[in-house]
Amino acid sequence: MTMTLERAAQTDAPLVDVKGLRHVYGKGAGAGLVVLDDVNLTLRPNEIVGLLGRSGSGKSTLLRSIAGLITPTAGTVMVSDMPGDAAAHGVSMVFQSFALFPWLTVQKNVELGLEAQGVPADIRRKRTLAAIDLIGLDGFENAYPKELSGGMRQRVGLARALVVQPSVLLMDEPFSSLDVLTAETLRTDLLDLWNEGRMPIRSILMVTHNIEEAVLMCDRILVFSSNPGRVIGEIKVELPQPRKRLDPAFRAMVDDLYARMTARPSEPAAREGALPGAGLGMALTHVSTNTLSGMIEALAGSSDNGAAELGALGRELQMEANELLPIAETLQLMRFAEIDGRVIRLTAAGRRYEAAAIDARKQLFAQHLLAYVPLAAHIRRVLDDRTSHQAPASRFRDELEDFMSEPYAQETIDAIVSWGRYAEIFAYHEDDDRFSLDDPA
Ligand code: ADP
Ligand code: MG
Repeated sequence: MTMTLERAAQTDAPLVDVKGLRHVYGKGAGAGLVVLDDVNLTLRPNEIVGLLGRSGSGKSTLLRSIAGLITPTAGTVMVSDMPGDAAAHGVSMVFQSFALFPWLTVQKNVELGLEAQGVPADIRRKRTLAAIDLIGLDGFENAYPKELSGGMRQRVGLARALVVQPSVLLMDEPFSSLDVLTAETLRTDLLDLWNEGRMPIRSILMVTHNIEEAVLMCDRILVFSSNPGRVIGEIKVELPQPRKRLDPAFRAMVDDLYARMTARPSEPAAREGALPGAGLGMALTHVSTNTLSGMIEALAGSSDNGAAELGALGRELQMEANELLPIAETLQLMRFAEIDGRVIRLTAAGRRYEAAAIDARKQLFAQHLLAYVPLAAHIRRVLDDRTSHQAPASRFRDELEDFMSEPYAQETIDAIVSWGRYAEIFAYHEDDDRFSLDDPA
């Protein structure tokens, strides 16, 4: 596929300009879930921009708004300086899950976008085969998605996005469903095509939760906050390509991004000892107590005596930020550790926990769970107050859903169930989805 785009205005004008974007998902009668608030970003020609944020921070919502797949609650999205329908101005998207039609061959899946555009059949075929060739799917034209590996399926997704010759390629965590090696191969191939100018696109906006991936691929990284999602920082990556993960400058940048991702927006001093965002409506990540204990032990055993840089810890434990940060933040929430910039450090309680035997650990965990996780205290209070000492879990799930979407409410309940069990502060009965105080073990 050759670059045949006529570029009338080869200026530096933004290809995408997002201003004051806000998105609220409706929650029936209650207040909506504010997922994006005042998001501003621009994408200029000839750059790969990464949007780095945590799961649930609204990255997909933002990308869908730019692609014109959903209508934001407020704000504007301009694509190539023209407001309105993105599809008409050359934005196309690669999804995290491959989103292929299982009953269509590779060729048909790729060709689909062109049919929608009313391109004549012979040109359609030529462009489709060129895109398939470009993206390394040669020979797989007649295969069906189920016959392909994950990596090959994502190549189909890429070919399908490129065949329409968009000016902007939007990629939503395109490598996160792939195994480590396949993901790396695809990243490298994509970067090669980009650096050689062989892709018929002008810019890429890529969403990721993977810090190293962002540093590997992007010219500019926008750090995205959660609750609500907003661009809170920007880093230019000026390291030459191809970049090396072991390069000290690469590592320094990764470490810096860890710090930015854990930074809390400056907020008035926490009320009643609560962390920002704390309260019943706080979404919890289901991190097992074994994992929490393991991290406390890893920190205690670290050369820096209870402290470690998050970036170094991620490399040592071979964890991505998306895995590591929820563990670190759960420890911080429970005051077993504190995060200060790029460093995580055990608190005195964390050290006591590490030194304690099993029963003492459980007691300490119970104290901290009740003191610092409002939902745990809330459930315990309800159970204490009722003469039956039991309550359906659905009651708490419903309360949570005033603050967060269903999957997050469920994960929060899952977290509290496993922590509460370990701490023996209440029991949960799976068969009838009920909390109780009997035999909390
Ligand atoms: P990310 O891509 O960063 O993981 P998403 O944009 O998918 O985040 O989701 C952000 C938040 O919006 C999450 O809390 C998610 O549960 C919620 N959400 C996403 N899509 C919908 C929807 N269609 N209806 C209601 N809530 C949604
Ligand atoms: Mg997403």
